[in-house]
Amino acid sequence: MSVSKKVILIGHFGVGKSSLVQRFVHQKFSDQYITTIGVKIDKKIVKVGDMDVTMIIWDIAGEDSQQKIPASYKLGAHGALYVFDISRPSTFENLQAELESLNDVIPGIPVQVLANKMDLVNDEERGMILSRLPVQGVFETSAKTGLHVEEAFKQLAEKMV
Ligand code: GDP
Repeated sequence: MSVSKKVILIGHFGVGKSSLVQRFVHQKFSDQYITTIGVKIDKKIVKVGDMDVTMIIWDIAGEDSQQKIPASYKLGAHGALYVFDISRPSTFENLQAELESLNDVIPGIPVQVLANKMDLVNDEERGMILSRLPVQGVFETSAKTGLHVEEAFKQLAEKMV
């Protein structure tokens, strides 16, 4: 059996959303910033048990404010990856409120939170930051090294079916 699911990437500018998609779909990483504004749609098939889940991954490039993201981007989404940058507190200071506002627009869908750029922090910083977060089950990822990227997308696929 196969199903198709719309997945959206949410999070501040520069946290690594596009890089995570690049890593997951194309097994690549680039140090360059993509500054084009627009929505990119990628897809990848993930196996959950004996089901093929086609993840249609929507990513907004070049948008610096979550508020400016059109509702149409979020509508119809079956799941979301909320990404922050563990090396930049401003990207996770309002995590709780931002997750709540996401839930207001698309209530009840599974949201997987990713603490990205794990390669930039040491164990001590990592432990301190993660223990203070208001949410559980955060995936520690690095689009640069590939750490847990596959697992994070797969976990969301499992939650969506
Ligand atoms: P977006 O605006 O959220 O889509 O962020 P990008 O994917 O464009 O990434 C912004 C910058 O962070 C780029 O220079 C990336 O190369 C870099 N970056 C993304 N993920 C990682 C990571 O896991 N580790 C490191 N060190 N840099 C990363």
